[in-house]
Amino acid sequence: PKLNVALCGLGNYARMLAEGLQASQYCRLAGVVTGHADKAAAWQQQYQLPPQNIYNYNNFDGIAHNPNIDVVYIVLPNFLHKPFTIRAAQAGKHVITEKPMATTAADCEAMIAACNKAGVQLAVGYRMHFEPTQQEIMRLGQQKAFGPVRYLEAGLGYKTYNLADANDMVDINDDTQWRLHKTKAGGGPLMDLGVYCVQAARYVLGEEPVAVTAQFGPVHHAQRFTQVEESITWQMQFPGGAAANCTSSYGFNIDKLYASADDGYFELSPALSHGPFTGKTSAGILNIPPINQQASQLDAMAQYIINKQPMPAHINGSEGLRDIRIIEAIYKAAQTGGVVKLV
Ligand code: NAD
Repeated sequence: PKLNVALCGLGNYARMLAEGLQASQYCRLAGVVTGHADKAAAWQQQYQLPPQNIYNYNNFDGIAHNPNIDVVYIVLPNFLHKPFTIRAAQAGKHVITEKPMATTAADCEAMIAACNKAGVQLAVGYRMHFEPTQQEIMRLGQQKAFGPVRYLEAGLGYKTYNLADANDMVDINDDTQWRLHKTKAGGGPLMDLGVYCVQAARYVLGEEPVAVTAQFGPVHHAQRFTQVEESITWQMQFPGGAAANCTSSYGFNIDKLYASADDGYFELSPALSHGPFTGKTSAGILNIPPINQQASQLDAMAQYIINKQPMPAHINGSEGLRDIRIIEAIYKAAQTGGVVKLV
């Protein structure tokens, strides 16, 4: 039997998840939650969804009475992850929410508490944990294949505008531009893309950072970046002595990971985007065939739910909370210019 998943929020990434659900062994797309009647109709037709499994944001709580939905997968703008996670939990549904888990650590805590209270599982859409190239660099780092990693670089950024284009102005209150809106996104590229760098440093080293420093980058498009940073660079110190230098940006392109260990190195580029990921180590080329990342993530998470096993710590709410705490420390370090310690 397959788990019945309802996608909540039908934007760009929901499309990729719908493809993943089509390819999945243990899940199926069973319903949708959307504020747009036209999208509801289009998805209903494309995926042959029963009309009783189509919800909008007002009647969503009625999903509590629908035995044909097991999991709500939240793919909304970041600030809506919390209210919809809590509503889904209160409706008795397991929850998968997209990264970043929420816009504040306090919100993450409220989400974890709501899911615990309702007795439902909570997972964060950390697809990299189920991707074979990332799993290989986790192994190389954590098992010290080239000795202990001493230094790590991770960067993920996209050039999101063209200054030469006079029409390239945005209204940050436009719903499609929520990523530029502080209260909706929680922050800029650090929240959206930097979370992958934080994850990569943590999963290569298998350690938690103890202190961070950070610097905001220059703003080249002042109209666009009134609320969130355009670029940010930060450093993380790890208890074993390793240092990580990371960057994320909406103003320039970067997608790389480099780890220097005592007896060698490993690197990926593309490293942290959607892949396919390629790279090399001091021992040779890293060439692992790509997979459907959404399907493999969904299948792994579904099996924990089906088998009534707790979601493991590296993909559950506590992991999402850890990353948001680190991100909050990085913002504090960039604002104060000082070192921020993590306990
Ligand atoms: P998007 O803007 O394409 O889609 C957001 C959807 O939310 C839209 O359909 C929009 O109509 C809907 N929405 C409902 N209420 C809204 C409101 N008040 N304001 C704005 N939109 C509203 O965004 P996306 O790229 O699909 O990102 C959605 C989530 O998925 C984000 O949390 C993002 O970080 C995450 N994401 C994850 C990955 C990944 O690889 N895991 C990739 C992309 C995005």
